[in-house]
Amino acid sequence: MTNQDLLITGGHVVTLDPDVGDVPGGDVLIRDGRIAAVGTVAPEDALGAQVIDARGRLVIPGMVDTHRHVWQGALGASTGDTSLMGYVGKVVQGIAPGYTADDIYAGTLWGSLQALSSGVTTIADWSHNLQGAQHSEANVRALHDSGIRGLFLHGGPGPDPAAFFGQPARHPEDARRVQKELFPDGTSGRLRMGMAFRGTSFTSAETTVEDFTFARELGLPISIHAGMAGFPDSVEALYRKDLLGPDVNYAHANQLTAREFELIADSGGSIAISATVEMLMVLGTYPATGSAFRYGIPAGLSADTTTSSGVDLFSEMRIALAAERSRANKDAVARDEAVLSVELDQRDMLRLATTGGARAWHMDDEIGTLTVGKNADVVVVDMRAPHLDGFADPVSTLVFGAGPADVETVVVGGEVVKSGGRLVGPYAETARELVQQSRRRITERTQA
Ligand SMILES: [Zn+2]
Repeated sequence: MTNQDLLITGGHVVTLDPDVGDVPGGDVLIRDGRIAAVGTVAPEDALGAQVIDARGRLVIPGMVDTHRHVWQGALGASTGDTSLMGYVGKVVQGIAPGYTADDIYAGTLWGSLQALSSGVTTIADWSHNLQGAQHSEANVRALHDSGIRGLFLHGGPGPDPAAFFGQPARHPEDARRVQKELFPDGTSGRLRMGMAFRGTSFTSAETTVEDFTFARELGLPISIHAGMAGFPDSVEALYRKDLLGPDVNYAHANQLTAREFELIADSGGSIAISATVEMLMVLGTYPATGSAFRYGIPAGLSADTTTSSGVDLFSEMRIALAAERSRANKDAVARDEAVLSVELDQRDMLRLATTGGARAWHMDDEIGTLTVGKNADVVVVDMRAPHLDGFADPVSTLVFGAGPADVETVVVGGEVVKSGGRLVGPYAETARELVQQSRRRITERTQA
């Protein structure tokens, strides 16, 4: 948080606040880390403020990634040529066991900066390579040092990452210490804690009961992978054990039945959609985007594993929308009928990437729209380049064509972490050297 006020001025402000809408040529005033005004700010109300010229730019709320394994930030697109099971062999069973706490720090710091540089200001970090106490501490420290907001989701299963699959051992007890020492007041700076569990698709119902009971005893939200092809019985099994609740987030949900979506909706749970990974890694035929809308389930977008996806949510918005239009019209196409109209559009996808993600993690009182009083998590996208200029609805143009390189300024809680198209935080320079060192170590250990 900076003491100096910030004035982002003259941009096309997309507040996503239904009471405000878009403000062409508008201003956003930031004070004490929060949004102090949106619209037209009088000069006397912004005396002494640092001014960011946003003419020709789009000003949007910071995006929320609802499910990402941030520790994999060093690995690049290592599994672009495989399905889920190829990823399991190469990353979970091959590379992950060789990770030291230093590698977790470097990968998580780099992965957080990948997100921030792309306009993602909040991330749910599904951290499932915590082989001991030092790994947890390194992971939390890296998130802190990057400046990102989010949830540290403490993942299992402990010393052996390969034991993720089918092992009966319950979630490591060390999560209790992590909460007590690193999140003593429930938060730690911009971070909160939650639990990343295997759930009934990856371990027994009995272990899942113990795990969920553990999280609820600690008062921590829960995330599981659910509804992936080949890993059945996720939501129904939770229902049979009376474990559903508004504190449960379900990543993917591709293969869930209508009844399972109803169970999630009725219990107040949420969904993380990872459109790229779900189709490239063949978790299911289509993402659950349409089901989330149809059943009124809070949902957001996510990159999931960046070994099989990009690091940004612009491409997720594009791919999720294309996939959903294809899914929604597949019956008409099968009858060889011309489709006359479609439902969801680009603005719906931007809402998913911001407001939706905030709702999915119960953070919508604090982030997700550019609303006075909320945390000042703001992204400025330069729309003056040929691929983004000349727009009618700038949001459609943004979703069609923007990428991380177009993100000019990123503000988290009033702190500028990207400026003039470059990361400017205190670790922006050292992170690259650390991740290169880590890559060399990983390569030596695993012959990756
Ligand atoms: Zn995942």
